[in-house]
Amino acid sequence: MATLPGHLQALLPEPSELRLQRVERTSNLILIVVKAARQSAACPNCRVLSHRIHSRYERTLRDLPWHGATVRLRLVARRFYCRSPDCGRKIFAERLAGVVRRHGRSTERFRQTLAMIGYALGGEAGARLSERGRPKRKPGQVEDFRGYLEQRWKQGCHNATQLWREIRDRGYTGGRGMVARMVSGFRAPGTKYFRAAAAQPPSRRAASSPRQIASLLVRRPERVSLPEQEFLSALKQNYPVIDVLHGIVQDFSTMMRERHLDQLRDWMHRVTATGIPALKSFVAGLRRDQSAVNAAFSSQWSSGPVEGQIHRLKLIKRQMYGRAGFALLRRRVLPLQRDHEQRAP
Ligand SMILES: [Zn+2]
Repeated sequence: MATLPGHLQALLPEPSELRLQRVERTSNLILIVVKAARQSAACPNCRVLSHRIHSRYERTLRDLPWHGATVRLRLVARRFYCRSPDCGRKIFAERLAGVVRRHGRSTERFRQTLAMIGYALGGEAGARLSERGRPKRKPGQVEDFRGYLEQRWKQGCHNATQLWREIRDRGYTGGRGMVARMVSGFRAPGTKYFRAAAAQPPSRRAASSPRQIASLLVRRPERVSLPEQEFLSALKQNYPVIDVLHGIVQDFSTMMRERHLDQLRDWMHRVTATGIPALKSFVAGLRRDQSAVNAAFSSQWSSGPVEGQIHRLKLIKRQMYGRAGFALLRRRVLPLQRDHEQRAP
């Protein structure tokens, strides 16, 4: 088969631990076949390196989707003999740190993305979702309001925030994100609300430059037009990380707008917990410049604008929406986009 473009190697989780063998593609499944990069492995018991292979076995791990296509990582893992005579272990399986957990069935990055969604949804429901990979039913969950939401949708209310407020008044205890997700499903192919625009791969759309996407993510929901909403929800379905980012950015601007300095600590914890390096460094920046943060949130700032403080606030915002947002988008979206363009004739 043709030589694989070198940059494909960079799409692997932990490119230093794995070597890409080949990529197989069927209509809706991408199989990435990899092998371990290292010749030897350290015994988990005595830490002595061994080159002596006992046996090989296959593991298939669920990985992050590419443009909505399911991705599986097939890994040929090895068992080694421990060569240390004093060690209680005779044979051990190699560990691929950062790729997969010991008995994991999905790659670490896939697991972390689910966890990020959990954090973005916030609270227990999110944590459970990320643990199990699927929501658990209990009273007050969005599923209980499906009938109501469908009815309101048919009546023409397609605004997720509005719908969220309405069901919240009726006992829904979850976040807006779950509501948005459910109603975006009402647009699914085959239903009468389906619009071709929403189903188009995001990268084909004119609005998919990182700058435009970032501008969409930071905009207040009521200022996002219907086609843009559709684009955004398609984007979020294709890239869970965008979904997470959107939640984080929106919460940040709500916090700023309503001056909830008390929520900032929680928010920073959530952001740090996503494990996304660009976001972590943004939070580290906030921690370093606590006085600017306090100024940004203070009533003094709102009653009489002070040039310097506004300037610093703008710096914070630029850092948030600029560096963190773009670095993240570049890392997560652009490599995939490139891949998509290459497949196109
Ligand atoms: Zn050993």
